[in-house]
Amino acid sequence: MSLPNFPSAWMDEEHRTLQQSVARFFAERWVPQAAAWREAGQMPIETWREAGAQGLLCLSTPAEYGGAGGNFGHDAVVILEAARACLNGFGGGLHSAIVAPYLIHCGSEEQKRRFLPRMVTGELVSAIAMTEPGTGSDLQAVRTSARRDGDHYVIDGAKTFITNGQNANFVVVVCKTDRGAGAKGVSLLLVETDQAEGFRRGRRLDKVGLKSQDTSELFFDGVRVPAENLLGGVEGRGFFQLMEQLPQERLIIALQGVAAMERALDETLAYVKQRQAFGRTVWDFQNTKFKLAEVQATVLATRAFVDACMVSHLKGELDAARAALAKSWVSEQQGKVMDECLQLFGGYGYMMEYPIAELYVDARVQRIYGGTNEIMKELASRFM
Ligand SMILES: Cc1cc2nc3c(=O)[nH]c(=O)nc-3n(C[C@H](O)[C@H](O)[C@H](O)COP(=O)(O)OP(=O)(O)OC[C@H]3O[C@@H](n4cnc5c(N)ncnc54)[C@H](O)[C@@H]3O)c2cc1C
Repeated sequence: MSLPNFPSAWMDEEHRTLQQSVARFFAERWVPQAAAWREAGQMPIETWREAGAQGLLCLSTPAEYGGAGGNFGHDAVVILEAARACLNGFGGGLHSAIVAPYLIHCGSEEQKRRFLPRMVTGELVSAIAMTEPGTGSDLQAVRTSARRDGDHYVIDGAKTFITNGQNANFVVVVCKTDRGAGAKGVSLLLVETDQAEGFRRGRRLDKVGLKSQDTSELFFDGVRVPAENLLGGVEGRGFFQLMEQLPQERLIIALQGVAAMERALDETLAYVKQRQAFGRTVWDFQNTKFKLAEVQATVLATRAFVDACMVSHLKGELDAARAALAKSWVSEQQGKVMDECLQLFGGYGYMMEYPIAELYVDARVQRIYGGTNEIMKELASRFM
């Protein structure tokens, strides 16, 4: 790491020990396979079971539901190390720290017992399906409907851009249960897709970056779901359940950004110190030193901001506005840092075999998903 003397205030001894073992596992087991996964466009389903067996899933899920009984910091460590290792195809952060918390905080006791233990082992691979071809930012405008029919709901609709879309067999679907009720007409349905007639996976989408992430379209044509799969058991709560959990999703994006920036700085320092031009190393040019000193300052400031958000969040005090600003500001710094670093590699920076190229293309989407940066600023401005 480029900044070993700058420890994160929210990490305790247990987090640091976990960080070392997760980093070792990724380096030894998964990084050597990453090029093949990029080529295939997704990570194989077995990696989910392997992650479960290694204890990398649902670390903040309570032990009574099979989880590790840790706090969000434990999931954050896995998220940081996956981003640092450029394993951005691994949707474990979304699974452990976005979907599992919906169940933990909003699910009924029966739902927690039915789904969480299988999420911990990787038997259930989860996704959250909000976005549709016709709407992303404006969540209240979703058209996917869930109609009550006896003791079932019948889901009709199409979703797109869904992370883990090919591997997922457990999808939290954002539906309208009452078209006329605006935000109060939104509900979250828990769909086990293995037995679901009428469920279909569409294309694995061809993206600019995140090449080993199986982002996909999903279709629901008259999919019947037992009524007890309504998250929390009460219709019309979906929008509020989403709003409650989104700050953590935004913090995850900020964490990924920090780790990716630190990796980029490390890669760039190592490269410029050995690359020769005009009889000296690229590092010897004053421009390189100034650029990388600026990058280091940006990385330090960004990490300080995210660490402060982590400290607040672990105390249950992170508000939606600060989480939104962290997501938007960090992702913007990430874009700038990747651009500066890539430039110092010259033509090699444009070659995908160099991690800096992957870090550069993967950074772009950070300003878009999890709520675009424009929406983040709009949200934050409401509290100013
Ligand atoms: C790789 C990837 C993974 C994703 N994973 C998931 C997932 O797992 N689950 C899921 O549900 N979704 C996922 N998404 C979808 C993502 O969250 C949406 O793409 C995002 O919220 C933006 O929605 P949109 O694409 O429909 O853009 P639009 O909403 O159409 O926005 C287009 C532009 O208009 C701007 N805009 C819109 N409204 C306003 C406003 N009020 N003020 C100012 N500007 C505005 C936006 O900022 C943007 O610049 C993923 C997307 C990508 C690319």
